[in-house]
Amino acid sequence: MSNESANSSGTSAARARGRVVGVPKRCWCGELVVSLISKSAANPYRRYYRCAFAAENRLSNDNHTYQWVDEALVDETEALKFRLGILEQIIVDERAEEEKKKCAEFEMKLETEVFSRMEDAITEPKGRSRK
Ligand SMILES: [Zn+2]
Repeated sequence: MSNESANSSGTSAARARGRVVGVPKRCWCGELVVSLISKSAANPYRRYYRCAFAAENRLSNDNHTYQWVDEALVDETEALKFRLGILEQIIVDERAEEEKKKCAEFEMKLETEVFSRMEDAITEPKGRSRK
C-alpha cells in the first residue's frame, strides 16, 4: 500500500497543479501546450502535455499546465461519450417527432383518399346514369 502511494504521488501532485479536463490547448498563462515524452524513472516514455513556456524554461514545481496524455485522452473520451449520449437522445427525440408528423400526414392523406373514393363510389353511379 505504501509503495503504491509513493509511485502515484508524482502523478497526483502533477494532476493537482494546472489540471484541466480533457486535452489542454493552452495554458492559463496564454502559452500553447506542447506534448512531450517523459524521461523520468517513474514514467519513462510516458507522453504528457506541458505549457510551452514552462517546458522551455525547464520549470519545476510550478502551476503551469502539466498533464499526462493518456489521462487527458481518457477524460476527453468520457466527455465525448457524454456529449454523444445527449446527441443520440436529441436525434431519437427528433426522429420520433418526425415519425409522428409523417404518420399524421399519412393518416390525413389516407383519410382524404378514402373519403374521395367513397364519394366517387357513391356519386359515380349517379353520374353515369345521368350521362
Ligand atoms: Zn503556462
